[in-house]
Parts: sequence; structure tokens; C-alpha cells
Amino acid sequence: MSSCPACNASFADGSDTCPVCGWWLDDASPACDAHPETPATGCCVVCGRPLCERCEVTEDGVRFCEVPDHREVRRERELLLESESEFEADWVVENLAQNGIMGVMFSAHEFPSTRWTPMRRPARVFVQKADLAAAREALVRFDIESTKVPGDAA
Ligand SMILES: [Zn+2]
Ligand SMILES: [Zn+2]
Ligand SMILES: [Zn+2]
Repeated sequence: MSSCPACNASFADGSDTCPVCGWWLDDASPACDAHPETPATGCCVVCGRPLCERCEVTEDGVRFCEVPDHREVRRERELLLESESEFEADWVVENLAQNGIMGVMFSAHEFPSTRWTPMRRPARVFVQKADLAAAREALVRFDIESTKVPGDAA
């Protein structure tokens, strides 16, 4: 179990950032995507963009980048999994689609400042809240090892 020093949320080990508020958990955080001279303190909980305090947009203590759609994603969707591999996350999205579930994938490695930052699970997949239970059931059937569901340990 890990817990977030910023928001006190508990979640399964293996996340690079707090899945709840976006705080960067490792001491070795990448630079802010917009300010290469400033270390990131957190990231957008949706796309994973590294943010310094000047760049973060917070809503109820949750960190977002400035893209309004990402706040929308968070309102309408739940984090299904974090994955060490974008390919695997894409594979999950494709296979969820075959089960009638629309997932969306984001990866923190899209951003130049994290591209070479060692991250355990840079890719994340979100599904509509109403689909979360079905998507978790499907994941068990997919039987993939390098993903985890952050809520499971709670
Ligand atoms: Zn947190
Ligand atoms: Zn974002
Ligand atoms: Zn910044």
C-alpha cells in the first residue's frame, strides 16, 4: 500500500503519481512541462502532464493541466488502470471496445520532460463510470500482468 503525502489517499503500490490528486510520489520528479528549470510537483491526473505549482489547475484538490476536456474526463470517467506499457494500454482499449466498452488512453510519456524519466506506469486508461464494473470484469478475463487497478488495494 502507498499513501499520498499530499491528499492522504491510499492505493496499491506501483504508481508514479497519486491517482487521486496527481501529486508526484517519487523524489526524482521530471521537470515541469512548461518550465524546464522547475521540478514538477504533480501531474494532470488525466494526461499525466508534469506540472509545477504555477501550471497546475486544481479542482477540489485534484491537479489538472489547462486543457478543459481533461477536467471533463475526470468528471465523467474513472481510472480503470495504470500500465507500464502504452502498447498494452492500447491493447486493453481495443479489447474493451470489442466488449462494447469505450475506454480512453493517455500516456505521460507524450510529454518531452517525461519521455526519459523512468516511470513505472506512465499509461492510464479511463472508462465511463457506468462501465467501470464491467470493464474490471473484462480485465480479469484479459489476464494481463503489468497493469493494476489503483482502487483494488483499498
Ligand atoms: Zn494525492
Ligand atoms: Zn491533462
Ligand atoms: Zn510550470
